[in-house]
Amino acid sequence: MLEERHPSEPFRIKSVEPIVLLSRAQREEILHRVKYNVFKIKAEEIYIDLLTDSGTGAMSKDQWSALMQGDESYAGARSFYRFEKIVKDITGKKYILPVHQGRVAENVFFSTVVNKGDYVPNNTHFDTTGANVAHKGGFAINLPCPEAALDDEIPFKGNMDTRKLESFIEEKTPEKIPVVFMTVTNNSTGGQAVAMANIKEASEICHKHGIMFFFDCARFAENAYFIKKDEPGFENKTIKEIAQEMFSYCDGALMSAKKDGLANMGGFIAVNDEELARKMTELMIVIEGFPTYGGMSGRDIETIAAGLNEVLKEDYLAYRVGQVEYLGKILEEAGAPIIKPTGGHAIFIDAGKYLPHIPSDQFPGHTLSVELYREGGIRTSEIGSIMFGGYDPNTGENISAPKELVRLAVPRRVYTGSHLEYVARVMDRITARKDSLRGYKITRQATLLRHFTIELEEMAKEEVKVK
Ligand SMILES: *Cc1c(COP(=O)(O)O)cnc(C)c1O
Repeated sequence: MLEERHPSEPFRIKSVEPIVLLSRAQREEILHRVKYNVFKIKAEEIYIDLLTDSGTGAMSKDQWSALMQGDESYAGARSFYRFEKIVKDITGKKYILPVHQGRVAENVFFSTVVNKGDYVPNNTHFDTTGANVAHKGGFAINLPCPEAALDDEIPFKGNMDTRKLESFIEEKTPEKIPVVFMTVTNNSTGGQAVAMANIKEASEICHKHGIMFFFDCARFAENAYFIKKDEPGFENKTIKEIAQEMFSYCDGALMSAKKDGLANMGGFIAVNDEELARKMTELMIVIEGFPTYGGMSGRDIETIAAGLNEVLKEDYLAYRVGQVEYLGKILEEAGAPIIKPTGGHAIFIDAGKYLPHIPSDQFPGHTLSVELYREGGIRTSEIGSIMFGGYDPNTGENISAPKELVRLAVPRRVYTGSHLEYVARVMDRITARKDSLRGYKITRQATLLRHFTIELEEMAKEEVKVK
């Protein structure tokens, strides 16, 4: 008997998009052309694209047919009310403001609540969230639980350190903290889930001090699935019931619908406070759009409404989370050390451990990311010293990130189990010759968000120090 290794896809394929694996010589030439920066490779030159799970998912037949239902009226469109109904049903909030993507929700919200010098704690800020807090003159504070830094395979490593939250509030005073955030799942620590108990505790601490408690809820459904799977007492609840309970502890939420909205674009703000909703609506009209379309077309809004219904289905989530877990398992079998447990949307390979002969100032994560493209046409992203490190502008010295990771983000409903097995086979071929891989040096870089535009070259053989 063939062993079942992951839940099979709960869908069949109605429309296909061809992908091509270019020859090794072509891939080599492309790497040279883009100066070893995978962000600059054209999408059609990639075979399997694991750069991000954001807005890269496949829509269902119901979503495609919902497109035709789009009501493009400027004000009061039918599509908005359909969308509002499902968002209210899941979040339980009174006021729903549509926006065209998550970072606009952040801009509108933080512009309204953050004053210069305020603090905004979070289990871990996503990069645009932190940047939007800073843009309003606030300080984005990360309070991940201590377990997040450990190698142990324990559930809910996305939790917040609630003891630290409590002491942080006492130290800075509640007046300087307009809101506390919880990111579900915790994207920046690897899509790790947050437990219901932790959500409840953080909520109680905030409310005791009169501070608002909000979700950054891009992957709320994946989080709810982990609660059902791993937190005692939730086995027999539906995903929707769990999601509703999660949202019952927060005062509002910001959502990027490019993730668990199963849409290619979109987002929303959900809040209970009338005064806050009114202020945000005023700003929305100036920068984003009338409050019943918020920067989206009626058809886009329809696809999100349909997507939010589908994302709560347990067979979908079992396949989704199971697929990511399976990719982690076969990559490990192919010799890659990964961060465990596997999260909801991506696998993180510890390239620092995998390529111990490459020092952090020669970017082992980058080496592996380039090699995955060279060997198999696979695009991934380095989450290490290129993305999160930097350099001292006075001495030119490299500043290292805490870990040298490579992220393989899995788009929703796009690749089959066989595509993932291909990725693991490529990894296996790299493992066979990994000791001969060389690091990189930077030839050109920007001071901010350098990973997008950086240029590099491979270290020459004679430059590699023998240990
Ligand atoms: C993607 C994401 C955002 C930003 O959303 P965009 O739609 O990309 O602007 C914010 N928070 C989290 C947790 C995200 O994953």
